[in-house]
Amino acid sequence: MTSENPYQPPNSNVDKQKNAKYVQCPYCNNRAMSAMGKFMLGPARSVKCQSCAKRVSVSWASMIPIVVGMAAYIVMKPFIEPKYILLALVPVVVLVFIIHYYFIKIVGREKTSSK
Ligand SMILES: [Zn+2]
Repeated sequence: MTSENPYQPPNSNVDKQKNAKYVQCPYCNNRAMSAMGKFMLGPARSVKCQSCAKRVSVSWASMIPIVVGMAAYIVMKPFIEPKYILLALVPVVVLVFIIHYYFIKIVGREKTSSK
């Protein structure tokens, strides 16, 4: 047995996977909020980073998966019995969450002028 494993990812990849559990702050690169906190955050709102307390928000692109999810709901609604609509919405919500989680970037909302 050799100590080298060609299939073992380099350490940087492992760190990336670890960081993916939370949302990184654009200012301090530390934990700004949980993934769920980011999901609940809208572009019109901003919250303080949990690490450096600077204001961060999500870009306006975060509305896209939510709009897509709502459109999917509106399209599906006439075809699905009301008692099953919540069940049908689960994969939609999961999909919206995944898109939001992987593609929506957190942006700084700290006013640079106010010092
Ligand atoms: Zn921060």
